[in-house]
Parts: sequence; C-alpha cells; structure tokens
Amino acid sequence: MNRRALRNVGCIFGPGLEFRPGVDIVIEDGLVTEVEAGAARDIGDDATGLVAVPGLINAHTHLGDAALAGRGNGIDPDALLWPPDGLRHVWMAEVGREAVVAGMRDAAKSMLAAGTVAFADFREGGVEGVGQIREALDGLPLHAIVFGRFNSFPLHSQSALLQNTDGITAEQLREIDAVLDVAEGFSPLWANDTTDRGLAQIAERVRARSGRLATHAGETPKYRTLSMSRTGAGDVQRIARYVKPDFIVHMTAATPAEFRVLADDDIPVVMCPRTQASLGNGIPPMLTALDCGVTVALGTDNAMVSSPDMLAEMTFFSRALRAEARNARRPTASEMLATTTTAAAQALGISSTHGHIGVGRPATFFLLDMSSPRLRHFLDPVVALVTAAESGDVAATFVDGVLAHASPRWQRRAAE
Ligand SMILES: [Zn+2]
Repeated sequence: MNRRALRNVGCIFGPGLEFRPGVDIVIEDGLVTEVEAGAARDIGDDATGLVAVPGLINAHTHLGDAALAGRGNGIDPDALLWPPDGLRHVWMAEVGREAVVAGMRDAAKSMLAAGTVAFADFREGGVEGVGQIREALDGLPLHAIVFGRFNSFPLHSQSALLQNTDGITAEQLREIDAVLDVAEGFSPLWANDTTDRGLAQIAERVRARSGRLATHAGETPKYRTLSMSRTGAGDVQRIARYVKPDFIVHMTAATPAEFRVLADDDIPVVMCPRTQASLGNGIPPMLTALDCGVTVALGTDNAMVSSPDMLAEMTFFSRALRAEARNARRPTASEMLATTTTAAAQALGISSTHGHIGVGRPATFFLLDMSSPRLRHFLDPVVALVTAAESGDVAATFVDGVLAHASPRWQRRAAE
C-alpha cells in the first residue's frame, strides 16, 4: 500500500466546506482515509501553516487561444470571437498548430500551479481541434472534459435560419459522431447557430452517444433578440426546450424569468466574470441566479483574455458583485468558494471524485500557504481564498494523492 500523510494541516472539509484546523490527513493508495488530529502518528510531512483546499474546478475554458494572450485587448467581441472570420480564429490559423498546442500546454500547467485540477474546455476546430488539446494535456494529471464542435461555420444559409424549418445535414450529424469518438461532449456555439429542429437533432445525436452537452446562452441581449427575430423565442428558452444541456455558459444579460426557466429544468450556469468584464459585456448576475435557485459555477473562458486562474476569478467576482449591488453582505465567502468547488463539480457531473475533501474520496486538493506574510494575518482561510489568495500562495497540488505541482518552498520543505 502507498501511504503518505500531512501533519498538523488545516483542511476545508466536506460538502459544507467547513474549516478544520490542526488535523492530520492520511492518504492511502490515492484516497483520503483519515482527517483527524494526531491520525498520522508523527509520520509524514509537517504541513504547519498550510491549509488543504479541494482542488479547484474551471467549468469553462477556451485554452485554444492561450497562444494569443493579450492580442484581443481593446477589441470589440463581435470582431474578435465568432467563427469563421473573428480575429481569434484568423490568428489561431496564423500562428499555427504547434504554437496553439504549446499555448494550451502552458495554460494547463498554470492551472495546476494555481490549484485547479479539473476543467471543461470548449474546443474549436472539430475533430482535429480535440486532437490538439489531447496532445497539449499529454501526461498532465488534469481531469479534462472536452466539448468539441463543428469545424465549419455557418451551419445554414441565412434564409434557412430565417425560415427555421430545415434541420442539419446527414454530413453534419456524422461530424458530431466523429467528434464524440474523441471528445467527452459536444457544444453548439449558441442557439443561433441553427434552427429549432437543428438544436433538437444535435441534442438527440449527442445523447444517443451518451455524450455531454453544453452551450453558450444569454451572454448579450443580441443572443435573445436574434433568436426572437428568427424563431419567436429567446435563446435561453430554445436551449432549455430543445437542447436540455448539462449546463449553460454565461447568462450575463439574462433576466430573472430566464433564470427561473433554468431552475425549473435543473440546468446549472457557468459564469465567466473576468472575461465578460474585459469584453465589456458586464458583470454576470450571480446573486439573481442563486436567488432563483440556479446552481452557479465559474469559468475563465478565453485564455487570450483571462488566465485560467480560479483564485483570480473569485477575488475579482466577489468584489465586482458587491460593487454592482452596492451591498457588502453578499456573496458570502462560502457562496463564492462553492462556485469553484462543490457547485462546479455538480455542474460538470464529477461530484463523486471532485468538489470536496472527504474520507474515502480521492486525495485531490491543493495546499494554500497561510504562513506567508501576505496571508498569515487572516483568521478565516475561506475569506483569504476568495478575497486575497493568489497562485503564488499555492504550495503544492495533489491529484489522487500524487504531487502534481510543487512550489520551490514546498520542494525545500519536503527535502528537509
Ligand atoms: Zn465560451
């Protein structure tokens, strides 16, 4: 049996994310077997001053544009994002496959260094695009859920979209099959890609293959107005009715009525506050979503706009929401931490292995260094996590009990 232990460590424990100071964490064959004071019986690594935190989950990325970091700064999202002519697609083709793969690999390593252990990526470029991210992730102990998409856009002529009667073609259905041979899921970009019938066909095909299904919705008012003008229904309604996805990304411009539709259908939302702010789309209304009964997770979205760093996402979002509501009371620190741990695991369907630390569960967590001059004055590590912690405060990241990232400080400590 492979046994290791961390002695005298703090732990954010259980699905309630409650702080337990001064415990020992015993790990056997990759699973946590004890979280109790004195359980290690003086064997293992002294972890005084550190706090074990559930491995963070990034519920929406496009790592594919990491190689283009900063190049979209100041550019209108309409000119930047949309295939086939949006600048990020032009630039990805320009820099070439090798640079795109290297960018994704760097981004993936930076996730482990910032305590993130699992993520869901919406990958561009059809089957070939999925192959690129697999290559980028080779050998890295990150849990990746890849949603592929069609390689070519648009899917229909403008008049077919306006008539809203045609479905997608047999060839497009075969492309979904080919993507699902290599990816965990499939993602229409948004409801306005296709007709009502096309949305239903995509969903039926993906579910028949037991694939995961997710899409963007409610990002800007244009999502709704374009959908209404073509079909008489808003994009959120059409996605809930025809696609029934595992989760929806964005909802930055969504109304309370639209959140209630998702609450009724039990569809979680992934919000991407730093990137939405940077693109000028506003601050995603998380408190409205929570008050409507919607599960909310966070993602960093385009790597060219925001680093895939969930600590940065939480510190930004907890401030921005208060600023927008002119209310300091919410979100609470534990509401915020849930968006990158328990709620995110629920949204991605990985709660059995990810989202919280517990006895009998995988030893997948990171160690936050609360002994640094920056953090040692915090009484509550959950408050430190969502208002102040940075990737440089991550001492080490463990996945299934194996060291996946170690800061120089942790390496020195382990060598002593
Ligand atoms: Zn996206």
